[in-house]
Amino acid sequence: MKTLMTPWRMEHVEGKAEKISGCLFEPPGTASFDKNLLLLYRDHANVVLLNRFPYTNGHLLIAPIRHIACITELTSPEQAELMEMVTKATQILREQLQADGFNVGCNLGKVAGAGIADHLHFHIVPRWEDDHNFMTVLAEVRTIPEHILKTFDKLLPPFQELLADTNN
Ligand SMILES: [Zn+2]
Repeated sequence: MKTLMTPWRMEHVEGKAEKISGCLFEPPGTASFDKNLLLLYRDHANVVLLNRFPYTNGHLLIAPIRHIACITELTSPEQAELMEMVTKATQILREQLQADGFNVGCNLGKVAGAGIADHLHFHIVPRWEDDHNFMTVLAEVRTIPEHILKTFDKLLPPFQELLADTNN
């Protein structure tokens, strides 16, 4: 289960990728998307990012805007909006990537495997009937059949449509 050929990962390792200062889940600015940051969606409540180190193609990260570490710190409205976002993102992955199933969850605390432990985030990992990965969810990088930026381009329109719906 070693890292396989993932061009974007190499870029990162070599230090050429854009360095993000501050918290990954608080992208600078107010834009509703940013390809350099792999930010697919931002509204008043949540951000959706493509994972730069995905376990499968289309692996999403969904976080509340507020910098909190644990689900126990969410207010009731935040809980509702976060779960709604997870639900909508799952539907988009099903439609756009023809995913057959999903691993959805979060790691709370470093001891539980959280890469970024101080800002709560959900993982949505799409799965396919014929994918050969026997899941070690949220564990190690696997082969990615499609370049991450192509996936970004495919997922951006439906996420931006969601935003239009939210604002209306
Ligand atoms: Zn944060």
